Amino acid sequence: MRCSQCLSENIKVLESRAHQDGRAIRRRRKCQDCDHRFTTYEREEEVQIRVEKKDGRFEDFSRDKILRSLQIACQKRPIKPAQLDRIVVRVERFIQDSADRSITSRRIGDLLMENLQGLDHVAYVRFASVYKDFADPDEFINELKNLKTTPARL
Ligand SMILES: [Zn+2]
Repeated sequence: MRCSQCLSENIKVLESRAHQDGRAIRRRRKCQDCDHRFTTYEREEEVQIRVEKKDGRFEDFSRDKILRSLQIACQKRPIKPAQLDRIVVRVERFIQDSADRSITSRRIGDLLMENLQGLDHVAYVRFASVYKDFADPDEFINELKNLKTTPARL
């Protein structure tokens, strides 16, 4: 690493800190020759995940898209934005850590539902009713029965 000002290689690290939920390290550095200070980031290589949709087409995995779907399901529920961010981070990390480079939209929906189930039942049912596209009412009722056996953690 060279200083961008004087091109010296005599660089000192002043401070290292975890960044972005531990997936990156932020370092404050200082050039020993000219005192120029700058910041660098070191991060895990992220793999672009492809999502297979119901109609068989593929699209790039989008963090924003799953966050938006959660926000819609959680409208007017007592859920903090940070709680939704945590779900997104957890789900994305899970997908990144799995060996496959692609995942079905159905599987993503299941992962999000698993996380919502422990957070808020109303949001969970809203999300499930849209994501699973219930074909018949029995399926929906089964989903509700499953809820009763799992206590909410609020
Ligand atoms: Zn310098």
